[in-house]
Amino acid sequence: MNTNISIEFFPPQTPEGVEKLRATRAELAKLKPEFFSVTYGAGGSTRERTFAIVREIASEGFDAAPHLSCIGSTRESIREILAEFKATGVHRIVALRGDLPSGMAETGEFRYANELVEFIRAETGSHFSIEVAAYPEWHPQARSPKDDLEAFARKVKAGANSAITQYFYNADAYFHFVDEARALGVDIPIVPGIMPIVGFTKLARFSDACGADLPRWMRKKFESFGDDSDSIRAFGLDLVTELCERLLKGGAPGLHFYSMNQSALTSEICRRLS
Ligand code: FAD
Repeated sequence: MNTNISIEFFPPQTPEGVEKLRATRAELAKLKPEFFSVTYGAGGSTRERTFAIVREIASEGFDAAPHLSCIGSTRESIREILAEFKATGVHRIVALRGDLPSGMAETGEFRYANELVEFIRAETGSHFSIEVAAYPEWHPQARSPKDDLEAFARKVKAGANSAITQYFYNADAYFHFVDEARALGVDIPIVPGIMPIVGFTKLARFSDACGADLPRWMRKKFESFGDDSDSIRAFGLDLVTELCERLLKGGAPGLHFYSMNQSALTSEICRRLS
């Protein structure tokens, strides 16, 4: 497949999970992704586990892109992390604000992701390629679509090289977002985030929380399958493959897969696309 793809993992909590992720990664490596990214719990809750997976990926010879969230962090702690990334051979970071876990007090020195991007550039020059998040259906806390778009443009102005979107199932929302960003002078690649559909109930709950819209026709159809997991899987695969085809045909510069640490669906979608 000629399309540029990247693949996201979360750091497993158990040694069995780490072992399983090795097998998943070996399978997904066959797709020749541009990089594997690894999420980071806001407030530093997964710091060691994220680093451990990043080190493994880098030692296997792949481009590893740790996510780094700044909310609740001090400049000094981010400086230390950047030094550790550099020492590990990391050249790409997904720079985020993050969401503080409930109950954690806001005591950090960063408020928004553009401040983190600025800080990384000030501290490390052009060492890192910086990815930032984009929201075609708007971030749930955004005061307005206009404010959100301007916040996105600020991250780009601060030095982001590329963007990865929140997942979505409305291709038009992505195309509209890209047009509006271009009209504001944003010229970096905006790569759609793709969420393969494993099960519907969990996806619906998660989508409500992160502000991704599940269109009514899609909800109704999934609900009609009840707990028939084969039908859910088959319909989900068709739907996401068609979405990817439409995005690529419409000019999307690549695809970023939220793998959920599983290889089967991402591999199957890429097989169908090629
Ligand atoms: P920002 O770009 O800072 O935006 C956050 C909100 O603040 C938006 O509503 C924006 O409109 C608003 N805003 C920005 N600047 C200003 C300003 N100056 N004044 C007022 N409002 C402003 N979370 C994790 O915890 N770990 C991860 O690893 C992780 N990975 C992710 C990867 C991707 C590709 C995506 C899309 C999201 C990821 N998230 C992750 C979730 C992300 O942390 C949350 O969506 C978070 O709420 C926002 O982070 P951000 O970097 O987009 O924030």
